[in-house]
Amino acid sequence: MLEPMKQMSTISLDGRSLAALLQEEERHYLSHLLNAHQLPKPKLCVILIGDLAASLTYVNTKKVACEKVGIEAEILHLEGQCSQKQVIETLQKLNKDPLVHGILVQLPLPPGMDTATILDTIDPLKDVDGLHCMNAGRLVLGDTRAMIPCTPKGIVRMLQHYKIETTGKHVAIIGRSSIVGRPLSILMSHQAWKGNSTVSLLHSKSENIQEMTQQADIVVAAAGRQKMVNSSYIKPGAVVIDVGIHRLADGSLCGDVDTASLQGIAAAFSPVPGGVGPMTVAMVVENVLTAWARHYKAREPK
Ligand code: NAD
Repeated sequence: MLEPMKQMSTISLDGRSLAALLQEEERHYLSHLLNAHQLPKPKLCVILIGDLAASLTYVNTKKVACEKVGIEAEILHLEGQCSQKQVIETLQKLNKDPLVHGILVQLPLPPGMDTATILDTIDPLKDVDGLHCMNAGRLVLGDTRAMIPCTPKGIVRMLQHYKIETTGKHVAIIGRSSIVGRPLSILMSHQAWKGNSTVSLLHSKSENIQEMTQQADIVVAAAGRQKMVNSSYIKPGAVVIDVGIHRLADGSLCGDVDTASLQGIAAAFSPVPGGVGPMTVAMVVENVLTAWARHYKAREPK
């Protein structure tokens, strides 16, 4: 008689608990250094332009996370109608302020503003989002002085924590944005960043996306398309990372992955909410501490 097929047990990659653990380590790290040395507290300044509800939520979440760890965090809220010149002048002041160690401009910017010009105004040493062209270049070159963008960094940290092997594996990333897909493709493929994977970077012009993802050991969904990825996109035993965030009419959140369809097929998936989102915030905190430690030539966080 035929044995019934054994179903794989699918685990959920708990970004919320891992982020809480990392934040506790970050709090200890900071209080230890502040007790041992006469150093000013780290300070993050976040520039928020306009009143986009999602942006307001994100900046507040980052502020609360920083404060929990002992970092001072200030939100500079500029009106949506402010000029690009005003934003640039604000950044130049923050660049010069020796007591500001991290600067972040919440994206997206209002229409008419040039994102690259504004991001490149930030002092690269204070650029905790890692989006200044110098940090992007250092990331590509595998130069460890790079500030690494928070979402890709959080994904890599999550894979490492769960001991998900990446060396020699095929990673398919859906989405090639400068803040998620592209920097992640570099981290995952580079020897210097210990990714060592073979990466397929897929996007809106890619053909046969499903054929590519079905061959992948790790699939990262970062297309901004609600529940686009389902079981037909993956091979049995694959790990699926969901980057997407979508607010539904009932106020709940979902991602780019139809996670219910992965049960018993995927080895693991990151949930939305509670997966990549909290890891991104934990990496903002870590990058502020890194910028602060580098400024005072102190030991960097792990
Ligand atoms: P983006 O709009 O800048 O980029 C989307 C990318 O997906 C583009 O490269 C595009 O070519 C590709 N794409 C779009 N439709 C596609 C399709 N049908 N097939 C294949 N590729 C397609 O978005 P982003 O800023 O990278 O964000 C992506 C998603 O991740 C959004 O839902 C966003 O809210 C979310 N996000 C989450 C976090 C977090 O911390 N969890 C951080 C950043 C972004």
